[in-house]
Amino acid sequence: MDEPDYSRLMEECIDIAYRGNNDNVFPMVGCIILDRNYQRISEGWRRRIEGTSATLHAERDAINKAKDSNAELIGGTLICTLEPCKTPRDIAETRGFRIKHIFTACSNLIVDSGIARVVYASEDPSGVGGIANLKARGVETIHLEHISKRVQRILHDDPQSERRRRRETRRSY
Ligand SMILES: [Zn+2]
Repeated sequence: MDEPDYSRLMEECIDIAYRGNNDNVFPMVGCIILDRNYQRISEGWRRRIEGTSATLHAERDAINKAKDSNAELIGGTLICTLEPCKTPRDIAETRGFRIKHIFTACSNLIVDSGIARVVYASEDPSGVGGIANLKARGVETIHLEHISKRVQRILHDDPQSERRRRRETRRSY
């Protein structure tokens, strides 16, 4: 089976990321998982975990949903706007604070689930990305650099301004 159009799927991931906007999550992150035959099995987005200051990462959200529906993750492809994280402990140390909720890092979760390929747009600007971890553990990685400008906007800019821009773009058609 032919590889899918990753750029088109990444555009969809950006739209999915906006679902987290209702929880005032920033940056917003969106993710799609395909099985080994490139059939879509789940979508995930970064959102607030109820009653805490912690967030559920988009990759974990999508992997949980795939598992809940008994979809086959082995050999699959994960597409994400932002490179998956390295370790929560690293994040805590880098930023100099302790976090209450220690989860397995998304990059480790991806390896353990048997996903074979990760397609991402933006490198983690905070320097805690897990692409090197994924590569070292045998996961193929594809960096869609040409699309990362739009992704950068949801990572760095005011989410409201991007929403407004999108509305205006739509209106001009
Ligand atoms: Zn993560």
